[in-house]
Amino acid sequence: MVKRRKILIPQPRSRFLKVVCKTCGAENIVFSHATFPARCKVCGTLLVRPTGGKAEIIREHAEIVAELG
Ligand SMILES: [Zn+2]
Repeated sequence: MVKRRKILIPQPRSRFLKVVCKTCGAENIVFSHATFPARCKVCGTLLVRPTGGKAEIIREHAEIVAELG
């Protein structure tokens, strides 16, 4: 069997991100390409706003701690 370099397949750039709300410290899972604003499940702070493409993490309000899948 011939070893061959893995063919690069375009991967979806979308991911789920684990972000921590800077207001209350709660962890929230948000979609990186969210098409709707994501709010903290605990305090309601706006964490992510849609931009038409990749969603923008509002860095004053949220910090990414992990990328999932
Ligand atoms: Zn919060």
